[in-house]
Amino acid sequence: MIKRNPSIANIKAGYLFPEIAKRRREYAAAHPEAKIISLGVGNTTEPILPHIDRGLVEGARQLGTVEGYSGYSDEGLLSLREGISRVFYKSAFTAEEIFISDGAKCDIGRLQLLFGAGTPVAVQDPSYPVYVDGSVLIGAAGAWAGTGYGGISYLPCTAENDYFPDLSLLPENGLFYFCSPNNPTGAVANRKQLGDLVAAAQKKGTLVIFDAAYAEYIRDPTLPKSIFEIEGARTCAIEVNSFSKPAGFTGVRLGWTVVPKDLKYAGGESVNADWARICGTIFNGASNIAQAGGLAALESEGLKEIRELCDFYLGNAKLIRQAVQGLGITCVGGDNSPYIWARFPGRDSWEVFAEILEKCQVVTTPGAGFGPAGQSFIRFSAFGHRADVEEACTRLSKLRG
Ligand code: PLP
Repeated sequence: MIKRNPSIANIKAGYLFPEIAKRRREYAAAHPEAKIISLGVGNTTEPILPHIDRGLVEGARQLGTVEGYSGYSDEGLLSLREGISRVFYKSAFTAEEIFISDGAKCDIGRLQLLFGAGTPVAVQDPSYPVYVDGSVLIGAAGAWAGTGYGGISYLPCTAENDYFPDLSLLPENGLFYFCSPNNPTGAVANRKQLGDLVAAAQKKGTLVIFDAAYAEYIRDPTLPKSIFEIEGARTCAIEVNSFSKPAGFTGVRLGWTVVPKDLKYAGGESVNADWARICGTIFNGASNIAQAGGLAALESEGLKEIRELCDFYLGNAKLIRQAVQGLGITCVGGDNSPYIWARFPGRDSWEVFAEILEKCQVVTTPGAGFGPAGQSFIRFSAFGHRADVEEACTRLSKLRG
């Protein structure tokens, strides 16, 4: 019989969200009368707004015409690549430096192919689980000790360090996944912190994979939305981003990755050229329909809709934050991000998850699922219909006392 890839056995038992879904199912089966509300997963809930939706419909229609038909477009439509550079990066990148993807998560998984199993990996702790599990799949965990997460360092991000890691812990010549606004903490790195990150990366030979999937939720104009707002980042960073959370494209699937031409490996070879090669080898490009929707999203009407949609979820976040704080629970996030990170000192986060489900019939996400430093925290997600969020906030008062 064929042998199993040993790296699969190193993925954390049961990926976080399937485990939450399983516990929800079990609770629902035992309490069929309960109306469970989810403030758990980061899946969007609101319809795509009309201008962007028309772009998608028109994209599909065009494919049914001789003039409008298009086939493969490996790195993405030129107009979309140029549009992304113009709208999000003040045209600082050429189209060849912007690669259109079927979403940030997919590119996070593929990016590791550039470096292979022998590269040390560091993540913020807590962090979006795909950074660790994607690294484990590529063999990063087993490359050293052969067990556990030996090749992966966790850099604690806690209240004590303002949710920003101690950069002296970055491994030499390794990869560092950094997410801002952060999932799950909702923390956003300020300009000074990102400047320190770029300086440390340059000193240590680190390549930063900057995940900006929630950038459009930033409302404080002093906070950077991209690592490329920082001088010097072009030689040490790749940025992944997505239409999922700003435009409701979680099911449509569209994202992008910026790989600057100035980025080089230790041997001087171009990372950009290798990424183009990988995209052409194992990825045949994002859907042309999704890209038509992306183009509509970049028009002024579309950008207005992006702001409106993010404002809606930020409105939910504000309600949740107020409800949590009203219970005397300390929390961060929710102002420039759709996540609220609530602290339950001394408690096990799966136990708090179970208590909230039991008393309030509200599903949350246990912090421990995002890394060891997430223990004693709960992540509340602001993705939900307003009436459900309001109802969930009312029910949270049952946690009092
Ligand atoms: N990056 C972060 C930090 C996320 O939280 C998510 C989804 O929850 C993604 C990326 C995935 O984005 P996409 O839908 O573009 O794959």
